[in-house]
Parts: sequence; structure tokens; C-alpha cells
Amino acid sequence: MNIEKYIRDIQGFPKEGILFKDITPLLINPEARTNCLKILVDSLEGQKIDKVVGAESRGFFFGMLLAQKLNAGFIPVRKPKKLPFKTISASYELEYGTDSLEMHTDAIQKGDRVLIHDDVLATGGTAKAVCDLVQKLGGEIIQCNFLMELTFLNGREKIKDFPVFAALTY
Ligand code: 5GP
Repeated sequence: MNIEKYIRDIQGFPKEGILFKDITPLLINPEARTNCLKILVDSLEGQKIDKVVGAESRGFFFGMLLAQKLNAGFIPVRKPKKLPFKTISASYELEYGTDSLEMHTDAIQKGDRVLIHDDVLATGGTAKAVCDLVQKLGGEIIQCNFLMELTFLNGREKIKDFPVFAALTY
């Protein structure tokens, strides 16, 4: 099955000049979802994973499916002030200014084998911040995986210390 046809291009979202890759057609279709999950799981070639970390918010969808399939814990990484318990934080650069992401301090134990997941790898700022959080808690990053990689934005460069996999590339 070609999962590419379940990604919809939206011109001008969230602002003019941006071509947004919409994953909701993929989420709505159980067969496409199953297929996509299999592609992501197969890329791990049987490596053991203790925790899957998903980035807010579209990283939660397949992040949770991956955790379930891999019999691993799921950890949400969220925008500031969204998580209720004690957090650590990592910041990253935006086009104008900076933003940050947070994770619970008890989410990862030292030596945990961690899979990081998000829907899209664009500039890599988000993924790098998530990697920083995992490393701060002593997790070992086994792979960063994505539904899609926008290769022309060179996000891989920011996370070049880790194995990167994308089910689709543009
Ligand atoms: P980065 O930090 O790599 O520049 O951007 C990646 C983050 O922005 C991801 O969390 C992703 O959800 C979001 N993102 C950027 N562009 C797109 C897009 O075209 N489609 C979707 N679904 N998310 C995007």
C-alpha cells in the first residue's frame, strides 16, 4: 500500500507561503495506519525499546501506537506549563525567537533505550530539543523516527548524532 496518498497538501496553512502536510487522512484510515505503523516498526529491525517519546501534539498519535506495538512506555513531551508534575525543559530556535518543550523528570530512567517519534521532521529544532531532554535524563536514543521528512529543510543535520528514519521523504 502506498501511504503517500493519505498525506494531504494544504496550501497556505497555518500561514501564507507554507505548504502544510496534513496527516488526518492517514489517521482516519485503519488500513493505512496499520501499514504506516508496520513501516516504522520494521525500521527498528527488532531492536528493544523501553520508552517511546512523542512530541506534542501530532507525535502523540503514532507515538502511542508505536509504544503499544513495542510493549514500551509512552512519554509525552509538551509545550511549557502543560505537564502537571516536576519537569525539565529544553529550548529551540524558531524563525523569530525561541520556544521550549518539557518532559516529566521521572519519565526516563538512566540507560533506558528510547525511540523518539514525531509526525514531521522539518528544520529539526523540535526533534533536537526532544533529544536534549532524553539525554538530560540519561536515556539512550536508539532512533528518531518520523512519518515524513522535509529533506530540503535539512533537519537531519541537527540530529546527526542519532539514527534517523522517515516513512516518507519530500
Ligand atoms: P521542526 O522543528 O523540525 O522545524 O518542525 C517539526 C514540527 O513542526 C513537528 O512537531 C511537526 O508536527 C510540525 N510541522 C512542521 N511542518 C509541518 C507540516 O507540514 N505538517 C505537519 N503535520 N506538521 C508540521
